[in-house]
Amino acid sequence: MSLKVVKFGGSSLADARQFEKVAAIIRSEDDRRYVVPSAPGKRYDNDTKVTDLLYSLHKAAETGEGFEEIYARIVKRYNTIIADLGLSLDLGQELSTIRENILNGASRDYAASRGEYLSGIVLSNLLGYPFVDAADLIFFAENGDIDEERTYEAFYELTKRLDRAVIPGFYGRAADGSVKTFSRGGSDITGAIVARGVNAAIYENWTDVSGFLVTNPRIVERPRSIDVITFRELRELAYMGASVLHEDAVFPVKAANIPINIRNTNEPDHPGTLIVNNLRAASSSPITGIAGKRGFSIIHIEKDGMNKEVGFTRKALSVLEQHNISFEHLPSGIDTMGFIIQTDSLQGQGEAITREIGKAVNADEIELISGLALIAVVGRGMIRAKGTAARIFNAISRANINIRMIDQGSSEMNIIIGVDEYDFRSAVNAIYAEFFPQD
Ligand code: ASP
Repeated sequence: MSLKVVKFGGSSLADARQFEKVAAIIRSEDDRRYVVPSAPGKRYDNDTKVTDLLYSLHKAAETGEGFEEIYARIVKRYNTIIADLGLSLDLGQELSTIRENILNGASRDYAASRGEYLSGIVLSNLLGYPFVDAADLIFFAENGDIDEERTYEAFYELTKRLDRAVIPGFYGRAADGSVKTFSRGGSDITGAIVARGVNAAIYENWTDVSGFLVTNPRIVERPRSIDVITFRELRELAYMGASVLHEDAVFPVKAANIPINIRNTNEPDHPGTLIVNNLRAASSSPITGIAGKRGFSIIHIEKDGMNKEVGFTRKALSVLEQHNISFEHLPSGIDTMGFIIQTDSLQGQGEAITREIGKAVNADEIELISGLALIAVVGRGMIRAKGTAARIFNAISRANINIRMIDQGSSEMNIIIGVDEYDFRSAVNAIYAEFFPQD
């Protein structure tokens, strides 16, 4: 038996038709026994997510404006889903309790959490699975972190009592007993905690894309999807701007060695992307993904004999520290060094800070260069493999693009390349075409 926890995002539960797809997916495998729903999301582009309606409702309760209208929209969303599913469920009592509580000053977190709470009741009714409130399973400590001991103990008790359940995403109980939500998109985290709590063999995260794509589809046309990626690779790519999964959703399952499978509710036969812990997992290509961002600057420093000068980097860094600026990369040569910094974080002070560093280290030359894009080429397949870097650089040079910076992490599975912002798209396309030629 391989127990599965299945989490469904807002677009998977946007209306009755989507709820039916979800129910069919769950029923198609008996191992899919613990279910974590989000609140109903957007049905079409300009639609409003139930969570956003609830935030507005909470605000309206404070300002006194538009409360009834927003409340009516929320009631209608759920009642339409229930009627279209042909359920005999009546949420009237629940809805009016929520209304009263919010009017009586219940917290913003409480209001937002009701989207998942009601979604959970509807789904439990549709499936015939018991409903278990997340506030009785997921506990936060005083400092806002998960109280792991209490939480996992509650899950242990749950598994003794119930072999299947619907547990709403996005919230738990704070140390003071009130309802507390995660940050936006946080049902992903709930799913990961549930997976760890019930000791699942796999955490299936159902969304509206068939897994992660090798690169951004707004840059490369129809990139292929990634079949297997490791947590480490994912972290590198997410950091550089690729996103599907809430960042914090990785920690609970990674620690317990539980793979995550990203799947598409609208294309249930597609295997999606499997995220695993094992760095040695087989990979069909030396690179797994390409991510990138515009908006970086380099502070480029030159000084003869810099390599021998004790404390040189510290002096330069202390200027950045005084201005509370973090840097992303620090490529260096014998007599040169560059700080790669997000341009935004310089807050228009770039030139002044550069001069200050120049003075602090007594530089021969110092220059601020902005308009840089960084591209991260990530792949466990390049660890100890020869020739990958050469292929990347050849591809870029064939596209007639000048490389401004290169940095390879010591993990050997990440090469960062800096190019001018206007070369960004063509550079990503050139790298993609080199490694995935027939696509
Ligand atoms: N419904 C919440 C949000 O919109 C949480 C989630 O969907 O994961 O952020």
